[in-house]
Amino acid sequence: MQAVLAVMAAHSVLAAVSASSVPQQPLLFPTISSTSSQSPQFHSSFHGVALKAKVRPFLSLSAAAAPKPLAVVSAAKKAVAVLKGTSGVEGVVTLTQDGEGLTTVNVRITGLTPGKHGFHLHEFGDTTNGCISTGPHFNPNGLTHGAPEDEVRHAGDLGNIIANAEGVAEATIVDSQIPLTGPNAVVGRAFVVHELEDDLGKGGHELSLSTGNAGGRLACGRQPFSSNAFSNFLLPES
Ligand SMILES: [Zn+2]
Repeated sequence: MQAVLAVMAAHSVLAAVSASSVPQQPLLFPTISSTSSQSPQFHSSFHGVALKAKVRPFLSLSAAAAPKPLAVVSAAKKAVAVLKGTSGVEGVVTLTQDGEGLTTVNVRITGLTPGKHGFHLHEFGDTTNGCISTGPHFNPNGLTHGAPEDEVRHAGDLGNIIANAEGVAEATIVDSQIPLTGPNAVVGRAFVVHELEDDLGKGGHELSLSTGNAGGRLACGRQPFSSNAFSNFLLPES
């Protein structure tokens, strides 16, 4: 860990020197983003260490508690994401999936302007730079943006949620493309609620086929890798 920190520190210094004409405070963001986008070596080595440190104790715990992991397949799986933003928008998203079936998403978000708001699963569970660092819509099949019912859509395209006059949006979404386990699992990714309505790829705007032209990101929350989420996977619902 010390070696990794030393590398990061050295990298930060390099970034600071190469951008020395920029005042110190705003440097924080360029330094962070250059670490993730321009220096994959540093990025991956740091994450490898962080993941090992977190996951190893959990794996040994779960192995002790669940000697027959095959039982997990038939269990109801659950995950929760708590959404927070900078403009008073917040909420909770709860997902359940029975075995390998459809995933049910229960959404309750407050503090919205009345009307439709794009609601998506984004690729990265990374909120270090606010909702921007959650990246684009989760899109494991490399398709263009669409409506949840379209064949051509991002897996993360969950359409719009509708806020009432009090700014509260409640919805139950049932979807086949956001499983809680397996190679396209959503756990560890992030939900984002947007400022504007998602045009579902049909608005004719230059952003329609990538973001649905849904505007800024009001609030976001990731589904944690926490032992809580995983222990829910291992326990049948009682
Ligand atoms: Zn999309």
